[in-house]
Amino acid sequence: MDRKYNFAAGPAMLPEDVLREAREELLSWHGSGMSIMEVSHRGPEFETVIHESQQDLKSLLNIPDNYHVLFLQGGARLQFSMIPMNILGSKKKAGYVNTGVWSKQALEEAKRYCDVTVVADSESDHYTSIPEYNTWQFADDLAYLYYVDNETVNGVEFPDIPETNQVLVSDMSSNLLSRPVDISKFGIVYACAQKNIGPAGLTIVIIRDDLLEREPLAFAPSMLRYELHVKNQSLLNTPPTFSWYMAGLVFKYLKAHGGLAAMAAINQKKSQKLYEFIDSSQFYQNPVRPRYRSRMNVVFTLTDNNLDALFLKLAEKEGLTNLKGHRIVGGMRASIYNAMPEAGVDALIDFMQHFVKHHG
Ligand SMILES: *Cc1c(COP(=O)(O)O)cnc(C)c1O
Repeated sequence: MDRKYNFAAGPAMLPEDVLREAREELLSWHGSGMSIMEVSHRGPEFETVIHESQQDLKSLLNIPDNYHVLFLQGGARLQFSMIPMNILGSKKKAGYVNTGVWSKQALEEAKRYCDVTVVADSESDHYTSIPEYNTWQFADDLAYLYYVDNETVNGVEFPDIPETNQVLVSDMSSNLLSRPVDISKFGIVYACAQKNIGPAGLTIVIIRDDLLEREPLAFAPSMLRYELHVKNQSLLNTPPTFSWYMAGLVFKYLKAHGGLAAMAAINQKKSQKLYEFIDSSQFYQNPVRPRYRSRMNVVFTLTDNNLDALFLKLAEKEGLTNLKGHRIVGGMRASIYNAMPEAGVDALIDFMQHFVKHHG
C-alpha cells in the first residue's frame, strides 16, 4: 500500500503499527464483538482503556504521584481559557512568554480574564529566538508563568526548562512525548493530541494537585473546571473515546520502542540531519537561531519564493506531502514528529537536493 510521508503539523502522521493494530481490532475489540467506538465510556471495556492509558502515560513521562492526568476535549485552544479561569485564584496577574504564534494567541485570550504581563518577548526578532532567561522581567504576584515549549508555526523550541520559582504552565502540544521532561518542575503541562499523540479531539492536561485548591472564577462553567474533571476521572461527560483509545495505543507503541529517551535520540538525529542539509545549502534557509531550533517543526524558505509552488508540486509527486508552511509565516515546514520515520527525512533531503540541482 502507498503511504505518503506526511509532513503536516497536525493532524499529523501516526505510527503505522498503531494504525494497523486499530484496524485489526476495529470490528471486535479484544473479542468483545464490538468496536471500541461502540461501547459505553463507563463499561468494563473502556475502563480497561482508561486504566492502561493512564498507567502507560504516567510511566512514559515518569509523572509524580502528586499530579493528576486529565483526558479532556476542546483542543489546546480551550486551555487558553481554562488555565486563567482555574489558576488565577485570588490573583489578578499572570505572566506570559511570547515566543511565537501560539503564545501570542494564548496571551491575547488570557487578557479576557486577567492582567497579562509579558515577561519576555521575541516578536521583534520575528520569533527566531528565545530571550535569555536572565533578561525576563517578572511583575510581583503572578498567578503563574505560561510558555509554549515548542512553537509549532515558527519552529522554535525551548532547549531546556526555564529556571524559575513561578508556577510554570506549559503548552507542549507539539512536543510532548518527543523527549523526557521533568514534570515535577511544572504546575500544568498540557497538549492536544493531534500533533504527536493521537487523533484530534483529545487534550491531555497534567496538573499538580495543590493547584486544584485555587478557586475557579465564579462564572466558570462546570465543564471548564479542572477540579470537577479530576473528581469525575475525566468522565464528567462522554469523552472522545476513539481518540483516547488511539492515544493509548500510541503510548504502548512508545513503551515498546524504548520510551521517550529513545524518541529523543531519534528526533535529535532526524532534525539535525535536516538542519545540517539546510545550512549547507545556498538555496534553503532556516531563520531560527540554532540553539532554539525545533526538533519537531523544521521551517525553511527557498531563496527564490517564485519556486515555492513548483517545489510543493514536485514534492507531492514523490509522496512528500503537506510541506507548505503555515499561512502566517509562509515558506515551507516539515513537521517530523515521533511517527515520521528517519527514511521520510532522508527522502525529503534527497528531494530537496534534486530540486536545487534542477531548478535552483
Ligand atoms: C496546534 C497547537 C495549538 C492549537 O491546538 P487546537 O487543538 O487546534 O486548539 C495550540 N498550541 C500549540 C503549541 C499547537 O501546536
